[in-house]
Amino acid sequence: MPDRSARETEALLARVMQGALVLGVGVPPVLWWIESRAGVILPWDRVLLPVLSLGFGLCLLAHRSGRFGPETIGFVALVLLEVYLVGSWLTMMLGFPELSRTYQVVSLLFWVPVGLAAAFVFLPRRTATVFGIAVHAATFVPLGAAVLLRWPIVAAWPDDTVPLLGNLALAMGTFIVLLGAISHLKSRAVRAERGLQALEQLATTDGLTGLANRRAMAREIDAAIALGHRTGQPVALAVIDLDHFKRINDRHGHAAGDAVLVQVAQRLGRHLRAADRLGRWGGEEFVLLAPATTASACTDLCERLRRDIEGAEFGHGDPVTLSAGVTALAAGDDAAQWFARADEALYAAKAGGRNRIEVRLRPPLPEAA
Ligand code: GH3
Ligand code: MG
Ligand code: MG
Repeated sequence: MPDRSARETEALLARVMQGALVLGVGVPPVLWWIESRAGVILPWDRVLLPVLSLGFGLCLLAHRSGRFGPETIGFVALVLLEVYLVGSWLTMMLGFPELSRTYQVVSLLFWVPVGLAAAFVFLPRRTATVFGIAVHAATFVPLGAAVLLRWPIVAAWPDDTVPLLGNLALAMGTFIVLLGAISHLKSRAVRAERGLQALEQLATTDGLTGLANRRAMAREIDAAIALGHRTGQPVALAVIDLDHFKRINDRHGHAAGDAVLVQVAQRLGRHLRAADRLGRWGGEEFVLLAPATTASACTDLCERLRRDIEGAEFGHGDPVTLSAGVTALAAGDDAAQWFARADEALYAAKAGGRNRIEVRLRPPLPEAA
């Protein structure tokens, strides 16, 4: 089950990445259009925004090809975004102060944290943290140096630029810390969920044979009864017990007995359909639940199981056989009644000489309403 959960998360991440890359392709042309119309586009953005869109398009193609992992694609796309943003930012602030109007300062810097948030979604936490710190440093350290060292360029910025930079640097730093905290909480939640799934697996699996254990089978039986009564479909139940199993333990030791149980479980499992459920009820007793199966079809199945085990070689020379009691769900049956009837049939099989299948039935279910 942990595998399934991990696969689902991976598939979801792939879809989210695809959506993010589609946005990466679509947003730059829209910005290009808005800024061109308003006359606020930076001269190099006339070229760089389409190039950025193209770059994300290539990332999208690479992602769809399935040849690269999401971390690789995510890393390349985010480096592309942040190099563009920070490069554009530093070029403007340090090279073209006359362009550094409040609109440019805010609109450029607004997108930097978007890339950082994406980094915490697509990259491992450590990589995302280093990435965030590096981007923050590249964005603010050169400008901080310019302010502290009183470079002449600072005087050419609009009056409110220096406090704005201090404000944005603090806000972005706080944002990175919070992203790290969210990511930490998320990985703890994922670990806790995996732990729960592993526990659930342990709680419902028989440790020796790997089959469903009694608790899980009892649940399956309850569900099958509810479904059978609701739909009127046949459901068959078989209780299977190894014959004279005590002798195998006595003659060959408990370990040999355990090995027989494991092999029997494997052999029985090979005969079942996907909807059939086999579990270890306890000791050398197994339960088979066969939905959409009549008692007679289930008896045929048990007969095949019986012959398989009878003919199998278990490594200690002595034959192993099984007896089984089969019954079908009848109107008004609860779990105890249903199981008791299968047990009665098993008892009859034992009394009748073992290595055989017996059936006990009550009148069939009425037609479903
Ligand atoms: P019958 O044909 O009447 O079913 O006889 P039996 O010997 O199979 O039945 P009985 O109930 O007398 O003995 C069951 C034996 O199964 C006794 C017990 O030690 C053994 N057993 C139960 N669980 C395990 C297990 O996990 N491993 C091994 N090796 N033996 C087990
Ligand atoms: Mg037995
Ligand atoms: Mg028994």
